[in-house]
Amino acid sequence: MQKLPVLVTGGAGYIGSHAVLALQDAGWPVAVIDNLSNGTREVVPQDVPFYEGSIADRDLVKRIFAERQIGAIMHFAGSIVVPESVEKPLEYYQNNTIATHALLSAAVENGVRHILFSSTAAVYGAPETIPIPEDEPKQPINPYGASKLMTERMLADSAAAYDMNYGALRYFNVSGADPDGRTGQIGKGSTHLIKIAVEAAVGKRNHIDVYGTDYPTPDGTCIRDYIHVSDLADAHVRALERLIERPDENLVMNCGYGQGLSVLEVLDALDRSLNQPLRRQMKPRRAGDPPTLVASNQRLVETLEWTPRFADIETIVKHALEWERKLQRDAAQ
Ligand code: UDP
Repeated sequence: MQKLPVLVTGGAGYIGSHAVLALQDAGWPVAVIDNLSNGTREVVPQDVPFYEGSIADRDLVKRIFAERQIGAIMHFAGSIVVPESVEKPLEYYQNNTIATHALLSAAVENGVRHILFSSTAAVYGAPETIPIPEDEPKQPINPYGASKLMTERMLADSAAAYDMNYGALRYFNVSGADPDGRTGQIGKGSTHLIKIAVEAAVGKRNHIDVYGTDYPTPDGTCIRDYIHVSDLADAHVRALERLIERPDENLVMNCGYGQGLSVLEVLDALDRSLNQPLRRQMKPRRAGDPPTLVASNQRLVETLEWTPRFADIETIVKHALEWERKLQRDAAQ
């Protein structure tokens, strides 16, 4: 397969920066566009061409396509905080849906024929079938999920009409960090459980809140499917290769391990890793949290022959903790 350069949007962000490394490790040339609203230039390797700007800036995007001979796009740029999407829906439709319309239009006009999109389990809303199959009804319960679902639809319609194909990867709970410590989550205003817990573990917070202990689950806390970010990045490289090999097919697939863990089980794993208990505070439910989200990952495993390397919570929290300690050392210097 000819390895044409891949444009990674949001490549200075958490998942995007891991995808850049996975692409490079697999021998793909890469370029990054990121507006640095949430990303950090330092996590992008020095040898990767970096463009600071918006994916909605068509002139810039066209210039990158031409300068770098881009053959495919991995599209991570967007806004990702669910409660914020409820407060600022128009910002979310702008950054996630309308900006993607601009990127996609530029791709179609310039003959970039493959696009892999960051979608989310939030497209399902509060699903009835667990583990969730991809054909479960899509009924998002917040603007974040809706903005991503609209983008999936736009991609599907475009793939039917134009000379292109697409993949939409629906992420469950992405966590952990690069095992070699090259990148991780930076956390401007963290909201995710494992990130907050490791911040507490290194003393950036004095406790961790547990949001809701009265859910209809065995220990009363919410159940999620935590997937290591490097396994997710590997799934992206495989999905990209599949899109190129089979230009008449599209991919829509869940990305998770198909295993659910409760909030307390995650915190227990961290306690074991620390050899001491983190202080927990039991709090009321957080608005908008469905009790259980676990992926059916059969499609991912079978279609992409994906074998995760880090599918256990011990490894995920260990890598998250190592990265948090590195951030702390760097900040102290
Ligand atoms: N959670 C928690 N304390 C926190 C952050 C999250 O108890 O400080 C819970 C949250 O209510 C949910 C689970 O952890 O049940 C996963 O939340 P996260 O924000 O990590 O991901 P989400 O599933 O909302 O995308």
